Amino acid sequence: MQVLKFGGTSVANATHINKVIAIVISKISEEPLLVVVSALSGITDRLIQMATLAASNDETYQNILQSVTQQHIDTLNELLPNNDTTVIATKVVRLCNDLQNICKGIQLLNELSPRTLDKVVSYGEILSSTIIHAAIQLKQPTAHWLDAQLVIQTDSTFGAANVNFEITNTLIQNYFTHNKNNITIIPGFIAADANKQTTTLGRGGSDYTAAIFAAALQATNFEIWTDVSGMMTADPRLVNDAKHIAQISYQEAMELSHFGAKIIYPPTIQPVMQKNIAVWLKNTFAPTDIGTVITNTASNQQNAVTGISSINKISLLSLEGSGMAGIPGFSKRLFETLAKEKINIILISQSSSEHAICVAIDATNANRAKLAVDEAFEYEISTAKVEPLVVENNLAIIALVGDSMQQQTGIAGKMFHTLGQNGINIRAIAQGSSERNISAIIIAADVEKAVNVLHECFFAATYKQINLYLAGVGNVGKKLCNQLQQQQQYLQKQYAINIKLVGIANSKKTAINTKGIDWTNWETELENGNPLSITEYCNTIINNNLRNSIFVDVTANDAVANAYLPLLQHAIAVVACNKIASSGTYQYYKQLKDTSKKYTTPFLIETNVGAGLPVMGTLKDLLSSGDSITKIEGVLSGTLNYVFNNYNGTTSFATVVQQAQNEGFTEPDPRLDLSGKDVMRKIMILARECGATIEMDEITNVSFMPPSCMVGSVSDFYIALQNEEAHFQQLYKTATLANCKLKFVATYYNGKASVGLQHIDTAHDFYHLYGKDNIVTFYTNRYSQQPLVIKGAGAGADVTASGVFADIVRAALR
Ligand code: ADP
Ligand code: ASP
Ligand code: MG
Repeated sequence: MQVLKFGGTSVANATHINKVIAIVISKISEEPLLVVVSALSGITDRLIQMATLAASNDETYQNILQSVTQQHIDTLNELLPNNDTTVIATKVVRLCNDLQNICKGIQLLNELSPRTLDKVVSYGEILSSTIIHAAIQLKQPTAHWLDAQLVIQTDSTFGAANVNFEITNTLIQNYFTHNKNNITIIPGFIAADANKQTTTLGRGGSDYTAAIFAAALQATNFEIWTDVSGMMTADPRLVNDAKHIAQISYQEAMELSHFGAKIIYPPTIQPVMQKNIAVWLKNTFAPTDIGTVITNTASNQQNAVTGISSINKISLLSLEGSGMAGIPGFSKRLFETLAKEKINIILISQSSSEHAICVAIDATNANRAKLAVDEAFEYEISTAKVEPLVVENNLAIIALVGDSMQQQTGIAGKMFHTLGQNGINIRAIAQGSSERNISAIIIAADVEKAVNVLHECFFAATYKQINLYLAGVGNVGKKLCNQLQQQQQYLQKQYAINIKLVGIANSKKTAINTKGIDWTNWETELENGNPLSITEYCNTIINNNLRNSIFVDVTANDAVANAYLPLLQHAIAVVACNKIASSGTYQYYKQLKDTSKKYTTPFLIETNVGAGLPVMGTLKDLLSSGDSITKIEGVLSGTLNYVFNNYNGTTSFATVVQQAQNEGFTEPDPRLDLSGKDVMRKIMILARECGATIEMDEITNVSFMPPSCMVGSVSDFYIALQNEEAHFQQLYKTATLANCKLKFVATYYNGKASVGLQHIDTAHDFYHLYGKDNIVTFYTNRYSQQPLVIKGAGAGADVTASGVFADIVRAALR
């Protein structure tokens, strides 16, 4: 005997059913065929909806009934276009009339019992199997139709009835001893109790129907045909990169399906496992694909983890109380209460203090569970031995499954670390003693992210997907986009990361596209974007809840700098070349640093000092390796260095400043550079990174700028600068006479920071500092005689963008 089962999507419409028929015909051989079918895709849900509306006296149930009827008639007519379909169409209409009568009854009684609901939904499979039977009969006139209700006997647990295997096996075997049909079509999902009342085997139960027949008849071939090419390492609807599993053990398949891998209904495995019958999962839409075979043999992957699954709509029940510790029987009573309510427990977790016991159940049962448990523990609650049951909703379970997890250490650690890094909070954890499964309860909104990060972590993902949100598309932003685009392939090859631009913003508009914004087309996308405030932009980023998110601030904007905190709190890494946040109040800087540490979310500001030069990274390495800084000295303004290197009294100071601005070396308002304020910020950031609690007003700044240049707009400033040319001539002459160069130097020494223009003589480290270069010297315990020197271009869009780029890669590889 061969048993083939076709699911709802496989029989969704006439086109699909024709594919099913082709597969069935191709299987005809000496071995008779049993074909178990589901209802047409979506019909069971609609029948439930229809009955529920009828029960609440909502006449619109009629519309559903009408469309369900029509869908079946249409499918029939399409399947048998040139044939007389009267007989079978009459049958379909008669079945739908029965449904109409049942619904009328439900409406009149205002009541929908589980028993009646089973009766209603059974029509889905009866209708589909009737139509498919008719279509197969065209090619195989001897094909039979068998009502599963006659041979599968269950108890009267309507909605998810338990099979009486002894009776069922005898009934099935008897039937097939007397009926030697070559092909038999059977409605899945439905059965009957001892009183011949219709029952169902639970949602997705057609798989189980097929397994019951396969086991009873010791099938030589058992195939479950669906819309994917077998079991994958995760639900392909959630994880694009899910990988095919060729072979998997019964236990692994059971665990995966129990924890949400919908491809197979969990009870399906039990009957066939006992008979050692292989289960093949095959794809109706790609019948030549090999599929997955489920047997006694574990998946032969190298990986400890075979698959990752998840279940949504979970509620967590917590029974807590000081009166529970050490007294046996509390758990028993809790489980008994839930069992009496026929509430299935999906996961259990108890802390060793025994003060609390948590169980996860399907959310639809949460209210019933609360009432029943509070009633069962009424006395203990009234005497304050236990608290009333706490119910938490909107949760989900994610599970790692694999036979080989038993021999491996560190899997749970890796799992929870990965979740934590992505800001996914874990509400409860359970690991079966078989060590075949580790499961965790998380909030439902995090499921997609969780499954994806775990998949990236445990399977050789082609790429780790990084989701990048950019703020600012000025000089640096544009260069950054170019660099990221150019390096795309290198990053994929070298680091297995794929950086996807998902959001971009300038001061006017934002464009967000979670599917990815083309690196070459972001300008158009931004033009067509929305005028969102930075707060709205960041809220959207948080709500999108994408894995491995990085926010990149290449603006010089206060509002953007003030938006980092909630991002870091939601595990969204922040890479900023904007210095405002790190050089604002110490309190804000500290808050960002602490938040980054607490949530292990990178907050990277390498380009705050020395553009792309590795200043912050070096300082961090010195400190973390136990060195201590005695003095920092540097020329930290590329602009000022450029200006004083190029100013020799022949061209006016104003012209040189203008040149610097044209080249893109200055801040948008060059006074930030010339006043020394930008250098103050930089030395303050370095001091803070060294551990100093320091504010801007504690830094000494001996400014060389005449006060007249420091008021008005940027264009006013250039006029004033021109008027003050004599002042700058004087500065230059004095230095030249002393055989010195002018350098704007920042110093941090003995807990104090200062900045100012200095005469640098030929012997000084800073004398040979050309163009717009920066130099930073670290005097430390280890570098006490000669400082550690970092020197190179310290301004310019290209080098700044490359520093930001390096921070992005650091955040991506965290
Ligand atoms: P059918 O209607 O054929 O019974 P189901 O919808 O019940 O089909 O099951 C097939 C679906 O199971 C797939 O479309 C897929 O989205 C989902 N699924 C969930 N987890 C997995 C997994 N690990 N491997 C394959 N499919 C999975
Ligand atoms: N039609 C039923 C359901 O949707 C059974 C099945 O498809 O397996 O749950
Ligand atoms: Mg199914």
